[in-house]
Amino acid sequence: MFLAHFGVALAAKKVAPKTSLGTLFIAGQLIDLLWPIFLLVGWEVVEIDKGNTAVTPLNFIYYPFTHSLLGCGVWAAAIYFVYKKIKLDERGAAILAGLVMSHWFLDVLSHRPDLPLYPGSDIYLGLGLWNFVGGTLFVEAGIFFGGLALYLQTTQLKDSRGKIVLWSFIVFICFIYLLNLLGPPPPSAEAIPIAGLAMWILIAWGYWIDRTRELRPGTTGSQG
Ligand SMILES: [Zn+2]
Repeated sequence: MFLAHFGVALAAKKVAPKTSLGTLFIAGQLIDLLWPIFLLVGWEVVEIDKGNTAVTPLNFIYYPFTHSLLGCGVWAAAIYFVYKKIKLDERGAAILAGLVMSHWFLDVLSHRPDLPLYPGSDIYLGLGLWNFVGGTLFVEAGIFFGGLALYLQTTQLKDSRGKIVLWSFIVFICFIYLLNLLGPPPPSAEAIPIAGLAMWILIAWGYWIDRTRELRPGTTGSQG
């Protein structure tokens, strides 16, 4: 999943109004943000295997530290404690931890059975939505635009100059998603972590969007 993780993070603004959209993006994508680093140091392994599923040409050979249930739980706990310590916002911290976990469950829905329960486990989960391009698009777009609708319900523009920041983000993220889906596979396995690290651009965009918007009057837990 890709768009859906951002969709869940957008939706989360409603329940974590004090937390910046950029931070919500980090939580929703945390294990995919860490994954390129683990690939680069060689602790996790991916290879290109055209047709692995209809949607992705990637074969996730080994990625238990980022993408096992236990691994993901450890990262969720880490973000909880770090955010709570820095921001003294327990509710925000809990929502962020939930977002980290949501990534794993959405990945279970989309991946073929390649998600381990814990490092060393030989039980792998995955329901294989990625075998169906239409179904994947439907779920990804549904969650993304549903989350966006909630985000728009929760926040409003500070002034009209900020408009372009959110809408250009939406066009850009949909464009790269479709490019990924319809374009050629990555040229080599070495190119995968580099492309993955580029996701930080989207995180930075989230912080930028957040700065152009404010909570709508009546949103609980007004920004402080
Ligand atoms: Zn993932």
